[in-house]
Parts: sequence; C-alpha cells; structure tokens
Amino acid sequence: MQYDTIIVGGSFAGLTAARYLARARRHVCVLDLGDPRHRFSAQPTGMWRRDDDNPHSVLQSLWDEVATYPTVTLLAEAAVKVQAQQEDFVVTNWSGEHIAGRRLLLAFGVSDNLPDIPGLAERWGVSVLPCPDFHGFNYDRKPVGVLNASPRSPEQAMLLSEWCPTTLYLDGSGCDASMREALERRKIRIEAAPVRRLAGDGCNLARIYLADNQVQPLDTLFLTACHQLNSSIAEELGCAIETGPLGQTIAVNGQHMTSIRHVYAAGDICRKTANMTLACADGMTAAMAIHHSLVFETNATEFA
Ligand SMILES: Cc1cc2nc3c(=O)[nH]c(=O)nc-3n(C[C@H](O)[C@H](O)[C@H](O)COP(=O)(O)OP(=O)(O)OC[C@H]3O[C@@H](n4cnc5c(N)ncnc54)[C@H](O)[C@@H]3O)c2cc1C
Repeated sequence: MQYDTIIVGGSFAGLTAARYLARARRHVCVLDLGDPRHRFSAQPTGMWRRDDDNPHSVLQSLWDEVATYPTVTLLAEAAVKVQAQQEDFVVTNWSGEHIAGRRLLLAFGVSDNLPDIPGLAERWGVSVLPCPDFHGFNYDRKPVGVLNASPRSPEQAMLLSEWCPTTLYLDGSGCDASMREALERRKIRIEAAPVRRLAGDGCNLARIYLADNQVQPLDTLFLTACHQLNSSIAEELGCAIETGPLGQTIAVNGQHMTSIRHVYAAGDICRKTANMTLACADGMTAAMAIHHSLVFETNATEFA
C-alpha cells in the first residue's frame, strides 16, 4: 500500500499532524518508538489547555483518538532508514518491513545530553528540571540552583531570579566581568567550584556537593542541556541542518517544509524552544501544508 504520508515520531508534533491528516481522509502511517522527551517528567506542564494537564495522559489520549480513524496505521516501531524512490519515500522499520508514502513528516524529537554528575540523571524531570518557562512559577520564592551546563545557563539563572532566589553553579567554568555584574545586579549568587554530586531521598534532591568541600542544601536544580537529534534520517536524506548553541535543528520554512522536496519536519527537531504546545502547532502547520500539496500536487510552497 502507498500511504499519503508517513510520519516518523508519534508524540505531540507527529500525532497532531496525524489527526489533521486523518480528518482530511488521508492514509497515514505513524511509526513511534514511544520515548517522548518529557518521559522523565513528573511535573504539571502549563500546556495550552490547563496548567495541571498531565503530559503523559494528554499524549495517551491523542494516541487513542488517532487510533480510531480508519485511514491511520499506528506502528510502535522505529524507522531505521528512509530512501527517496521516484515520487515515493520508502521507510524501512526495525522489523525490516518497507513502507511507501508520497510525503514524509519527520517528528522524531531530540534527546538531552545530561552532564555526567553522579546523582543527576536519575533526578531529571523530578527535582532536576529543564526550563524556567514551564516550572519557574511552581517554585515561586523557593531557593533554586542553576547548573552551568550550556551557553544558555546564565540567561536561565536570570529568568529564574524573576520567581526565586537563585544560585548559579558555574561548575568550574569561568564567568566574565560583565556577566558577573549582570548576575549580581539580579541578586544571583555565584558558586565557582565544580559540582561533585547530588544527593537526596529517591528522586528528590536535598544536597549539592561541591569540589571545595561545601555541602549546600538544595531542593531544585535547573539546567538547559545541549541536545542531539534522535535519528540521522534527515541528514541521510540531505535535509539542511542548522547548528545552534544547544545543538542541531532541521531547517524548515514557514510551512515546515525542509530543504528536500516533500519532506516536512515538526516539533523539537526544528525549533530552538522545546515546548509541547508549540510542537503541536508545528504538527498542525506541517499537516495543513502536506494536505494542500497533495490536493494541488504542487510544489508551490518552496523552501525559502
Ligand atoms: C524533563 C522534561 C520536562 C518537560 N516539561 C515540559 C513541560 O512541562 N511543558 C512543555 O511544554 N514542554 C516540556 N518539555 C518539552 C517537551 O517534552 C517537548 O517540547 C515535546 O515533547 C516535543 O514534542 P515532539 O513531538 O517534537 O517530540 P517528542 O515528544 O520528543 O517525541 C518524539 C517521538 O519520536 C520517537 N522516535 C524517535 N526516533 C524515532 C525513530 N527513528 N522511529 C520512530 N519513532 C522515533 C520518540 O520515541 C518519541 O516518541 C519537557 C522536556 C523535558 C526533557
């Protein structure tokens, strides 16, 4: 069977697109490994619908809803290879099956490269958190730390200081005079020593150990990690890739077309700001463009 669209990645971006295309009576195949980026998170999300929406149940209900459409095939499978063949794309899945489709939507997300500090990875999403925009409000006026894990960390500390008394753990890196001055102006405490380990009960954080023998009480640590694309498919197809301070993203135009004809991308793989609501919006934008291109069989929405 030839699908109208194959979607690689069935999370916020991929499933939103699948639902739109299903309602346009398109035949869609979604392949999904089932490891969305937020899977470690136990926190309410600040999604577009309700502040306390649980992302796991929102995603599950989206999956269940999409599964009811007769023109959609959902496969809990990895896409391992994609080849462009004449007017089709042929996706090979982990089981070795070949799936053909006229359009391809990449929505396979990114993974965070967490710093190798003992006690950190197991607290990710619970007491070690990625983003002030999602979680800052929940910690209103409570002391928090920021780990210097990427070029965005000082900016993250400044944002958090709007809500909370904030300490920036430089983790042995330098901080130039103008940055130090900007941090101190916002009353952000600066700790220079490398971080040795994090400790607390279970996934909770209680203490941070520094290399200069300090042990400080701390309940919550924020960090913006660098990331990597979850699949090399886009690169192998020849899609233009951009490299920013936090890692690679797939270049797209306003309709979420990549630089390769009939290949689209949506969600965290093509944006600098990770966000479930924005990933859904990307999926919707890409799906509308795909539907229009199938109806009119044009390439009018050129990549630019
Ligand atoms: C700890 C944490 C907490 C977060 N909290 C929030 C929050 O509160 N609010 C908010 O708005 N955002 C939050 N985010 C960000 C949010 O998780 C992402 O913005 C969102 O998940 C992006 O959706 P996506 O569809 O682009 O990708 P993802 O949700 O990452 O989904 C990608 C999907 O593709 C699958 N996949 C990967 N490779 C393949 C392949 N080769 N074949 C088939 N399938 C594949 C993956 O398994 C996954 O299911 C958080 C992120 C983290 C890390």
